[in-house]
Formats: sequence, C-alpha cells, structure tokens
Amino acid sequence: MPLSENDHFDVAVVGAGAAGLGAALRLAASSARFCVLEARTRAGGRAYTLTDTPYPIDLGCGWLHSADRNPLVPLTENRGYTIDRTLPAWGTQTLDLGFSAADQQDYHAASDRLYARYANFGVDEPDVPSSALLEPGCRWNPLLDAVSTYLSGAALDRVSARDNQNYHDTGVNWRVIEGYGRVLADFWPALPLRLGCAVLAIDHSGAKVRIETNEGMLTASAVIITLPTNLLAREAIRFSPPLPDKIEAAAALPLGFADKVLMALDQAEDWPVDGHLFGSITQTDTGSYHLRPFGRPLIEGYFGGALAADLEARGPGAFFDFAVSELCQLLGNTMRHRLKLVVETAWGQDPLAMGSYSYALPGHADARACLAEPVDQRLFFAGEACSSHAFSTAHGAFETGDQAALQAITALRDPIAAKAMTPR
Ligand SMILES: Cc1cc2nc3c(=O)[nH]c(=O)nc-3n(C[C@H](O)[C@H](O)[C@H](O)COP(=O)(O)OP(=O)(O)OC[C@H]3O[C@@H](n4cnc5c(N)ncnc54)[C@H](O)[C@@H]3O)c2cc1C
Repeated sequence: MPLSENDHFDVAVVGAGAAGLGAALRLAASSARFCVLEARTRAGGRAYTLTDTPYPIDLGCGWLHSADRNPLVPLTENRGYTIDRTLPAWGTQTLDLGFSAADQQDYHAASDRLYARYANFGVDEPDVPSSALLEPGCRWNPLLDAVSTYLSGAALDRVSARDNQNYHDTGVNWRVIEGYGRVLADFWPALPLRLGCAVLAIDHSGAKVRIETNEGMLTASAVIITLPTNLLAREAIRFSPPLPDKIEAAAALPLGFADKVLMALDQAEDWPVDGHLFGSITQTDTGSYHLRPFGRPLIEGYFGGALAADLEARGPGAFFDFAVSELCQLLGNTMRHRLKLVVETAWGQDPLAMGSYSYALPGHADARACLAEPVDQRLFFAGEACSSHAFSTAHGAFETGDQAALQAITALRDPIAAKAMTPR
C-alpha cells in the first residue's frame, strides 16, 4: 500500500542495517509509534549471510569484534545461535609458509610498536596520516599497510592517526556459526519494517518532518538516519533546509574497500582448521586467507584498499583469480585445481553501500562526533561511522542506533532534557 501524509509516526528510522536494528529494538521497547524504511528488498545492509550455499556465508560482517563486551553477543546467544569462541589466527602464518617464525616475531614487534605510537599520540598533537607513525624504512611497513587495508579499508596514508587511536578493541573476536548477518536478520519479522522503500528527501522545515519516499510521503516527529557515509556525502537523500555540515562530515569519513572471496577447497583435510596465510609479506596489495573456517572445506580470502578497488573494477572472477595465483605461489600449483569459486563480493559497487566501512581522513577524526550530532532534536544520525570508538563494526553501528533512539525518545518526551543530553 502506498504511503500517505496521513501516515504519521513518532519516529521513522531510515535504513535496516545494524544501526537501524539497534534503533528499532529500543523503540519497540518504548511506547513510540515508529516505522523502519529500507530501500533494499532485504534487511541487514552490510550484515548479510548467504544461506542458499552449502554453508552459511557472511558476505559482510563475520566477526563479533570486542566480543567480551559486544552487546550483540548476549542477543545472539539468547536467540539460540551458537558462538564459536575460537580466536582468529590473523597475523600468523600457517606452517610458517614463506614467513619464518623469527620474521613473524619481528613483524609482531613492529606492529606492537606502531600500536604503542597510536596509544601515545598526544591529544594536543595535530592529526597526521597514520603512515607518519611508521618507522621509516622498516621492512614490515608494506605488511602493516596491508593490514590497514583490511582493518580500515584503506592504506595508512589515507587514514587519520587520531581515528586509529580512538578505536577501542579488546582483541577478543568470535564468530556465529549460523552467520552474523543471519542473527541480525532474525529480529526483523517482529519489527515494523517496510522493505523496498527508498527515502529520497527529508523536509524538516515545518512542524512535522516530511519524508518523501519512492512509495509516497509520510511524516514523523523525529527521524533516525543510518545511511552509509558515501551515500550521505553524495546527497542520496535531499535535506531541506540543507545540512552542509553533515555532508561535509560524511565526506570526511569515506567508506573504504574490503571484499571477500569464498572458495571451495578440495582435499581440505591437508590443511589445518582455522589456519591463516598472508599472500605476500612484502607487498601491500595482498590477500589475507582464512583456511577452513569452522573446519569447513573452504578458504576465505580478504582484500582491502586499492587492491580491492582494482579487483572490483576488473569484474567478476578477479578476486578469485588473484587469490588462486597467490595461493599457488604459497601452496603449489595443484591449488589451481583444488579451488572453486563459491562467491565474491563487490561492496563498492553496491549502490546502497558504495563501500565497506568508514575511516576518517587525516585531520578529520572529529567528523564522527559531528555526524552523530542531532539536528534540532528531531533529526538523529546513527550508523557505524557515527561511533566514537567502534566505527566500522556491526556492534558499533548497533550501539549508535540504540543511542539515537534513546535520544529521540527523550526528545519526544522532554525536549528540554533532550537538549542537555551529552552527545555520543
Ligand atoms: C566485507 C565486509 C566485512 C566486514 N566485517 C566485519 C566484521 O567482521 N565485524 C564487524 O563488526 N563488522 C564488519 N563489517 C562492517 C559491518 O558490516 C558494518 O559496519 C555494519 O553492518 C554497518 O551497519 P550500518 O547500519 O551502519 O549500515 P548499513 O548496514 O549499510 O545499513 C544502512 C541501510 O540503509 C539502507 N539505505 C541506504 N539508502 C537508503 C535510502 N535512501 N532509503 C532507505 N534505506 C536506505 C541500506 O540499504 C542499508 O540497509 C564488515 C563489512 C564488510 C563490507
């Protein structure tokens, strides 16, 4: 049924990703009348588990980062899903292939020193590109850069050092056997979600906020906007009056590239369960390979930054070809016949994501707080990019949605108290 201006809600949530879910669960626990508008024909956004494959495959988020304090862990378990607490082998090299134990130790020491420099980066020091904190000439710089492309979706010279300093990670990472995306998708049937409903414009000039969608117009007292920054920056939603500060903040928090390729592995038992390989330890353009995740006969390749952007641009099969060539170098040419493409992603080409997760450009770490700041106590912003400390993650997105909904509920009930609320 098309929407009409008679459709009035206390709160309208735009986007049914992890942030939209955080907002919706909070609103559902209140007396607010609300709806969630989602442009896709599915919920989840960048959290998406493929379930029509022999094993569930997370195309977006897969790891419950900071799992020992991740609010999605209890939600997952309460829902009856199974968490695998095996810690990732990132940073190690199975069988020391092309990366001796001594070199791995040396690399880890260089990585620890880089993280110590983030931690000690003075609050009064001007922000710099993270690459400025590398030791000049250190042999591990290309590999540290490769890891930055996995973590931030961009190499260190693109990423603010202050932003990296602000990221809090307990170092505990778990997975959901049935799929992270599947858990998040499980909540939606009980929530007022409208799929296939793209918000085109938000007019906040009058007493009610008017929301124009491809399915008609509705009004709301408050709106929670959870769009990925690349869409906000390109003004996928027209605001009137315009919100140039938000557009600028979103542009300073671009979504980097991170993509996966899943490959079926013949005679998988030859390789250890949950092993890990870097494709190369001397170049930034390399993949990170997770061998036999959950013991399944698969390899998951992970690519970030300029390499992922380039492979996306080359078209279907490019991630697979690149992965096979790196794995043949490491494991021998027989790998060519033992690997079969299951699926590869291209998040940068997804028109409703336009990238994978946000990083702050050097000098712009404060853009996150700016983006998260409510407008007139009735437009609220949420999404991974709004998180002060867990940006780029699903649980960080979820927390911002929850916070934005709390702010909206407070604003509806008590506008004066809402103004006094501290920003996220
Ligand atoms: C390859 C990859 C691996 C990742 N790995 C991890 C991981 O291991 N752990 C982790 O925690 N995180 C990971 N992430 C990041 C995590 O998936 C995201 O940070 C999180 O899901 C973002 O949630 P969100 O709600 O902020 O945004 P989104 O999920 O993007 O939700 C925004 C929603 O808004 C919708 N939308 C867009 N425009 C409109 C419009 N005009 N009208 C209505 N709806 C609209 C979109 O369709 C989308 O559903 C990964 C991401 C990728 C891509």
